[in-house]
Amino acid sequence: MRVGAIIVAGGRGARLGGPTPKQLLDLGGRTILQRSVAAFDGHAGVSEIVVVLPGELMAEGPALVGPTARPCHFAAGGERRQDSVAHGLAAMPAGPDVILVHDAARPFAGRELIDRVIAAAAEHGAAVPAVPARDTVKRLDVERRIVRETIAREEIWLAQTPQGFRREVLAAAVAAGGADATDEASLAERAGHAVRVVDGDEQNMKITTPGDLESARARLSPAPRVGTGYDLHRLVEGRPLCLAGVVVPFERGPLGHSDGDVLCHAITDAVLGAAAAGDIGQHFSNTDPRWKDAPGLELLQLAVGIVRERGFQIAGVDATVILERPKIAPFLAAIRAQLARVLRCELDRVSVKGKTNEGVDAVGRGEAIAAHAVAVLRTGDGR
Ligand code: MG
Repeated sequence: MRVGAIIVAGGRGARLGGPTPKQLLDLGGRTILQRSVAAFDGHAGVSEIVVVLPGELMAEGPALVGPTARPCHFAAGGERRQDSVAHGLAAMPAGPDVILVHDAARPFAGRELIDRVIAAAAEHGAAVPAVPARDTVKRLDVERRIVRETIAREEIWLAQTPQGFRREVLAAAVAAGGADATDEASLAERAGHAVRVVDGDEQNMKITTPGDLESARARLSPAPRVGTGYDLHRLVEGRPLCLAGVVVPFERGPLGHSDGDVLCHAITDAVLGAAAAGDIGQHFSNTDPRWKDAPGLELLQLAVGIVRERGFQIAGVDATVILERPKIAPFLAAIRAQLARVLRCELDRVSVKGKTNEGVDAVGRGEAIAAHAVAVLRTGDGR
């Protein structure tokens, strides 16, 4: 048995608005169309693909779909959906005896779903995946907005694609013509063919509205990554007190191999930690002369480069500096501005607070300065 897939992308998706046909909108770095094609191109059972495009996009077809592993052919969309499918079927080379017809607006068709449809189409001639209705279904007098009846829910299933057909069944169904059909199974039904229903897949959503597109994008965007950092340095006389490159006038400053900028050190660990990219000591060892007296802001900048190279961006940072004296409030605006520049994110995503230790412990006695930080990273490319 050989299987061909027709991806129907003939529509213009007016409901999503905008000048770009919806199948060409971006969905996590690839277009909806490319993802829909890839679901079949990556399926071992499929040997040929036909993409039905709006006529004016035909010339750009190969560029719009991109490279495929299987031969990919193109057909121009027709007036009605069944015309588009008829054109697609005409462009399908001889060979495949089972034909799948799929909406380009469903980019999440999984391998097992496609397997089920192929098996049932081969056995029964026509197969449609469907999921049971979960909501109560009403039949309406649409003009008056009045419920005419409540339909027994057990009998209501919602059809998806890909729908599968033995080639001659699909050919007869589209040749029979008739009124507009919103799917191919209804054409086969009209032609008198018993259409087998297989389990659909709740994940196999159809992108129709801006809300659909938003949930599809959310599904592809991974959870944010979170990291924490902590640092403490002794305060000694004769050292400047420096926080994110901003000098805070004080008679003592942190002792350290580097400049002892606890704030930058804590944030550096938080940034590296969120990417599971090690810690400050691993990247900037305190025994390495390269980093002697290195400004904390510079180490943070290097750490940001490390995580950006791994595909992350800084979504936000919050930090607390704990020291008994002096008050750092007057310097926070300058400190945040420095951090935002180095973190390469907006100022309103960077927060720094000052806190005392209420006279308790070494920090409370003014012998040390400490900082805590949390960083949130996002992937920049929908990974
Ligand atoms: Mg440190």
